[in-house]
Amino acid sequence: MSDRACRPCGAEEIVSGVRVSTRQSARETRPFGEVCLAIFRKPSAWFFKGTSRHSLRARVCGRCAFTELYADDPEELYRIARELADD
Ligand SMILES: [Zn+2]
Repeated sequence: MSDRACRPCGAEEIVSGVRVSTRQSARETRPFGEVCLAIFRKPSAWFFKGTSRHSLRARVCGRCAFTELYADDPEELYRIARELADD
């Protein structure tokens, strides 16, 4: 099994880089909002918490529908989390 294959079923019919979005209703097919990860650099601040947002991209198996999520810029997310842990 290659690194590109689906881990549960072994298929190589993979769709990568799929945006993770919300939609208004079941009838509304146009995505209007993108789901993202958010971490605060200054979580105790009243305002201006220094939000760092990270888009999510999905990797979907075209056979069994197994889906994995990947965050953009994980190094920055980890760096912020480490700084918060050190406080
Ligand atoms: Zn699969």
